[in-house]
Amino acid sequence: MSAADPGRLALAHVAKLRAYTPGLQPSEPGWVKLNTNECPYPPSPRVAQAVLAEVGTDGSALRLYPDPMSRALRVALAKLHGVDAAQVCIGNGSDDLLNLLVRCFCGGASAAGFTLPSYSLYPVLVGIQNAGAAPIALDRSMRLPVEKMAGCGARIFFLTSPNAPTGVGFANAEIAGALRAFDGILVVDEAYAPFARENAAGLLAGHPNLVVLRTFSKAYALAGIRVGYALADPGVIALLDRVRDSYNVSRLSQAAALAALSDPGYYAGIIDKIKGTRDFYASSWSTSRGWFTFPSQSNFICTEPVDSLGRTGPAVAKAACDFLYSRRVLVRHFPSDALTASFLRITVGSDDEMLVLDETLDAWLKAPPSA
Ligand SMILES: *Cc1c(COP(=O)(O)O)cnc(C)c1O
Repeated sequence: MSAADPGRLALAHVAKLRAYTPGLQPSEPGWVKLNTNECPYPPSPRVAQAVLAEVGTDGSALRLYPDPMSRALRVALAKLHGVDAAQVCIGNGSDDLLNLLVRCFCGGASAAGFTLPSYSLYPVLVGIQNAGAAPIALDRSMRLPVEKMAGCGARIFFLTSPNAPTGVGFANAEIAGALRAFDGILVVDEAYAPFARENAAGLLAGHPNLVVLRTFSKAYALAGIRVGYALADPGVIALLDRVRDSYNVSRLSQAAALAALSDPGYYAGIIDKIKGTRDFYASSWSTSRGWFTFPSQSNFICTEPVDSLGRTGPAVAKAACDFLYSRRVLVRHFPSDALTASFLRITVGSDDEMLVLDETLDAWLKAPPSA
């Protein structure tokens, strides 16, 4: 060990870490971007107004730290969900809250459970914490393996519902079963709940071990502003507040999220539009193209492409993904997960974007198949 090579001073588990791989964010225009589940429509016009008002004419309000508790936002979200403000914590994106939950509830032998597939950030955060992981594989039925969850030995379990990247929503009846059977904290990561039939917020009363996570990044079209929140028992929220950075949500972010919440009519319109586009293409790919497509309760579609020779599989999905990329259409392929390696995850875009995508998939089918 030597300070001349400071990287070698890292803790052993940190030296071995692999970072999370975010979807590509191209810096030049001209891409049809359907790879990171952003909203194809702009946020409510009230958001830009509120952010500009917060900046003011000379930016002098930015001299001051933000409200460390994001209190106005907690109160507004408590009202929206019919809970107490002491049951809400605001994060710098829901990723921030995932990080806080890992810091509070796992480490060493206190493992974290999660399903495979699910949001691939969970194992990364668990690795940073040097904690054990208890992954549980799902199959194409996408039924929640409640008994395996109950017996996994983890202190906290992360469940993405609707699931990523399949888009399948778990029913509240299944989640309630898991809450009864699992003897730890169950985090239901509901990034896509506004596009789903059901959500678990109604289960908070009577289930003190439930944490519901939401984000402004997807349905509220505010991925760039970084706001997410947790709904949970006041005791859990108090723990998160103890571990969190005091000023984790900027003034501009608090103002933007509050403005978005003030315009539910606008958001009901774009969410309906996205669900309509989703259902149209999901049904078209499964019926006209004959591609196995998971029933989606989210703002993306997970479909298994069949090439012109009738083949499916990881290589076919990769070939389709590469072909789309060569035509400047970005979608996501997750080769490392057994269940979804033969699938593409395609964010629901605007009508124009979906048309380009669909025509490019047709062009792929007409191109000479790769070996
Ligand atoms: C997008 C996403 C997040 C991240 O949300 P941010 O609020 O942008 O950090 C968390 N969980 C899942 C399942 C997601 O898809």
